[in-house]
Amino acid sequence: MTRRQPLRIGVFGGAFDPPHRAHEALARAAIHRLALDALRVIPTGQAWHRPARTSAAAHRVAMAQLAFASVPGAQVDDRETRRTGASYTVDTLRELQAEEPGVHWFLLIGEDQAVAFRHWRGWAEILQIATLVIAERDQNTLGTAEKEAEFAVLARQGELVRLQWPLQPLSATTIRRRVAAGEGIDDLVLPSVARYIETNHLYHHADD
Ligand code: ATP
Repeated sequence: MTRRQPLRIGVFGGAFDPPHRAHEALARAAIHRLALDALRVIPTGQAWHRPARTSAAAHRVAMAQLAFASVPGAQVDDRETRRTGASYTVDTLRELQAEEPGVHWFLLIGEDQAVAFRHWRGWAEILQIATLVIAERDQNTLGTAEKEAEFAVLARQGELVRLQWPLQPLSATTIRRRVAAGEGIDDLVLPSVARYIETNHLYHHADD
C-alpha cells in the first residue's frame, strides 16, 4: 500500500482552561473536513496575549487529555507548557516542521483569534509554514465587513480555509464563571472533565 503524501497534520493550540465541548467538536470537524491524518492539541504555556492568569499547565494538559481522548487521531502535545518564558505559536510550528519535514501543516483557530492574527509574533512566517483554518465563532470583536477585510489580507499572504460548522456559542470563560457561581457545567464539558474540575477544586473563585 502506498502512503498518502504529504501527511496532513493539524495543530490546535489553546489555553484549554478548561477544554470544552466546542473544542472537541471543532477538532472532530477539522479532522473530518480537512481529511487530517492527525491533530496535535497543544495547550499554551505562558500565553503572551492572555492578561488573566490561567490554571496550572499540568491541570490544563490533564484536562485536554481527557477531553480529546475519544477524538480519533488527536494527541495532546505538552511542549509549550514545558517552555520557560513566553510561548509563541511560530516557534512551535518551526519545531514541528523541523521534526517532521514534508508534512502539510494546518493551524486551527477560531474567528476571535483570527481577527487578531496579525498581532501574533511571526504571523507572516506562520502563514508560510501552515494553512490557516479559521473556524466560525459567534464571539467577534469586528463587524462582518471588517472581519472579511481582515481575512482577505491574510489570504493574500498564505493559504486560508474557512471552516463553517454549526456555531457553538460556548467559551471557557462561561464555564469558569458557572463553576464559580456554583452552577452546573455538564452540558458544556465532557463528564470526565467535569469530574476533574470538581476533584481538583478548579475555578471556585470568580477570578481563577
Ligand atoms: P476563553 O473563554 O478563556 O477565552 P476559549 O473558550 O476561547 O477560552 P481557548 O482555549 O482560548 O478557549 O480556545 C482555543 C481555540 O479554540 C481558539 O482558537 C479559539 O478561538 C477556539 N475556540 C474556542 N471555543 C470556540 C467556539 N465555541 N467556536 C469556535 N472556536 C472556538
